[in-house]
This record gives sequence, C-alpha cells and structure tokens, in this order.
Amino acid sequence: LAKSGGGGGVSRYDSEIDRADRDRGTRVEELRAALDLGRPDPGEQFVIYYQPQVDVRSLAVTGVEALVRWQHPGLGLLAPGEFIDLVEKYGLMPELTARVLGEAAAQAARWQADGVPLRMSVNISTSFLTHPELLPLLDTVLASTALDPALLVLEVTETTLMADAVRGLEAAHAIAARGVGLSIDDYGTGYSSLAYLNDLPATELKLDQSFVSRLVVDDRTAAIVAATIELAHRLGLRSIAEGVEDDATLAVLETLGCDECQGYLHSRPRPIASLEPWLRARRALLARRGVLGASAT
Ligand code: C2E
Ligand code: MG
Ligand code: MG
Ligand code: MG
Repeated sequence: LAKSGGGGGVSRYDSEIDRADRDRGTRVEELRAALDLGRPDPGEQFVIYYQPQVDVRSLAVTGVEALVRWQHPGLGLLAPGEFIDLVEKYGLMPELTARVLGEAAAQAARWQADGVPLRMSVNISTSFLTHPELLPLLDTVLASTALDPALLVLEVTETTLMADAVRGLEAAHAIAARGVGLSIDDYGTGYSSLAYLNDLPATELKLDQSFVSRLVVDDRTAAIVAATIELAHRLGLRSIAEGVEDDATLAVLETLGCDECQGYLHSRPRPIASLEPWLRARRALLARRGVLGASAT
C-alpha cells in the first residue's frame, strides 16, 4: 500500500471524511436540541410551509401539503433534503412528526372553524408508518383539534409501504378506520404491485413529479400518466399530479381527467403568513370569474 506519492491523497481523503463525520455529528446534536420538548424554551426552529393543491378544472384550492423546513440558527432555512435523512436515521422522527402533524392539524382545524375547510396532507416517513406512536399521536391530534378526520391526509410512498408490506398494510387499515385519508406519494416510482394497491385502503394517488415533468414532451410518459389516472378512478381514488410547473402540463392533465394538481405553476410552498393572503386572492379571483361567467350566459 506504500505507493510513492499516494500518501498525501489518502490522508486528505481521510480528513475530509473526518470533517463530514464531525459536521454530521454536530447537525444531529443540533437536531436533538431543536426537537427537545423538555427544554424551557427551545425556540421554534421547525417551520411548516404549505403548498396549495388545486382542482384542475375549477382552479379552486382543495387542500395544502405541509412541508417542513428547519430554520437553522447558523445555516438559514434548510429544506427537508438537508436533514430528514438524519432525523430518520437517528430516531428523531416521532418528535418531528408530532410537531408537524400537531401544528398542521391545528391549522386545518382553524380553517374548519372559520368555515373555509381545506384538506391537510402530512408526509409520514418509512420508520414512522409502523411506529407504535403513530396511531396514539393521530388519535390525540384528532381529539385535541376536533378536526374532521376526512380533512386530514397522510402521505406515504410505495417505498415506505413496501419496507414492511404486511405491517404497512395494517397501518394503512388503522388510518382508514379513523376516517383519515391516505395518499400514495410519488406513485409509479416504487416497487409496490397492483395486487398490493388492490388491498390498500388509499384515498389518493399522487403521480410522481418525474412523470409530470415529461408529460408534454414524451408520449410514452403521457400513456403511463393516462393509464394511472384511469386506474385511480376505477379504484375510486382521487388523482393528483405533483410538480406541475407550466400551463402546457396543466392542459394535458385536464385532458387526461386528472382531478388535482400541485406545483410551482400555482404556488411554491409558503409559510402561513404568506399563504393566507394568497388563499384570499385566489378566492376573490374565482368569485369574480364566477360572477363574470354567470353574467355572460
Ligand atoms: P414530497 O412529499 O414528494 O413533496 C414534494 C416536493 O416537491 C417538495 O419538496 C416541494 O417543495 C417540491 N415541489 C413542489 N412543487 C414543485 C414544482 O413545481 N417543481 C419542483 N421542482 N418541485 C416542486 P420539499 O419541500 O423540499 O420536500 C422534499 C421531501 O421531503 C418531500 O417530498 C417529503 O418526502 C419530505 N418531507 C417534507 N416535509 C416532511 C415532513 O414533515 N415529514 C417527513 N417525514 N417528510 C417530509
Ligand atoms: Mg408528499
Ligand atoms: Mg411527492
Ligand atoms: Mg416526489
């Protein structure tokens, strides 16, 4: 191994790994501290952004998806891609999900009380779907908010379900028994079978962004999307497309009969202070359009 000139390269590589390990270690400690409910004032570092889901034909808002961000004291606003894996790996998902689900359900309950109900979708990770704390948490949140369970949707991926197919199916039935919706997120990219889908008490199929983004330019992708929407409808599920970024894609989705869409075309995920005025503006626009539509006939 004592190759000439190789030593420097090896030790530099080692020190980079050391530093990456150290950074990860620091990040995990910071996550633990930020999630520690026992501390007097941990400071709220986890912020929920909400992305509207829109009816493809009417453009009315039907619901929102809760997407967590970490307001890191030194690094700024971090997207889930930068910390969710650590949360999962270090067993912190029960604490994070309790916060996100609790706050998201409380928000949905406020809209319900205000007479403008919207569905609230919350992502559930692989480890947490079959975790013993999921159902007690769900029951506590539903009881304490008085939210209509039908206004709550849990999003799980095929990969999450198939990680333990039998217990995943049991969890899905327990969720359905409470009247809570179940969305198969990123549908079409995982390894679940049609037989499994047949047994699953889901309420929604969410077409993965990778299909949606190629829909307009690729006939084969369009065929897959058309068949998936048809499949969803035949099974009595709502179809929703994620990652809709342009009008051309929306037009094809409408032609194919997709029920709802979500993406930058309508809105990026927003903090609640920015979502509320956006929702009011959207309602005002639809009301004006409704009035114009009625007077034109
Ligand atoms: P996801 O559930 O599939 O969420 C969709 C992701 O696509 C979000 O990324 C969203 O911001 C992004 N997106 C929405 N519209 C568009 C678009 O038009 N174009 C493009 N390019 N992207 C779009 P985000 O917020 O970074 O979240 C990434 C993933 O992190 C989520 O994927 C979800 O799996 C996970 N995640 C987010 N919040 C939570 C949470 O509270 N708990 C758990 N367990 N996972 C979460
Ligand atoms: Mg999702
Ligand atoms: Mg998704
Ligand atoms: Mg996706």
